[in-house]
Amino acid sequence: MELTHIEHLGIAVKSIEACLPYYEGVLGLKCYNIEEVADQKVKTAFFKVGQTKIELLEPTSEDSTIAKFIEKKGEGIHHLAFAVEDGVQNALTELEGKGVKLIDKAPRKGAEGLNIAFLHPKSTIGVLTELCEKPE
Ligand code: ZN
Repeated sequence: MELTHIEHLGIAVKSIEACLPYYEGVLGLKCYNIEEVADQKVKTAFFKVGQTKIELLEPTSEDSTIAKFIEKKGEGIHHLAFAVEDGVQNALTELEGKGVKLIDKAPRKGAEGLNIAFLHPKSTIGVLTELCEKPE
C-alpha cells in the first residue's frame, strides 16, 4: 500500500450555502462541484487547494451520520482522506492484516465517482480516515 497524498479533508457543516462567503469570499477558493451522495445522506461541495480538496459535508437528513456528528461535536473537521496507489481493496486487506478495524470491508462509490473506504477511528487514533482512488 502506498499513500500518495492527502486527497481531501472532509468538514461537517450545517449549511454549504452559509459557508460560501468564507471559503469563496474570504479564502478566495472556488467551489467547483456540489453533489448529493444519496446513500450517505449528504450534500458535498468541493474546493481545490493544490492537489488537495476540501469537501464540505452538509447533512440532508436528521439521521445522516453527519447530522449526528454535528449534534455531538459541532461543525468542524470530520475526516482525513488519503489517496492510495494500487487499489483501495489491496490497502484494506493489508490494513486488516495489521489489525486495523475497518468500517468498510470493501470499497464503495463516494462523491466524484471515487472508490472509497473508511477505517474505524478506534484504530486510527481518533481520526476518521478514508482511503480513495480514482476508478481505472
Ligand atoms: Zn471524504
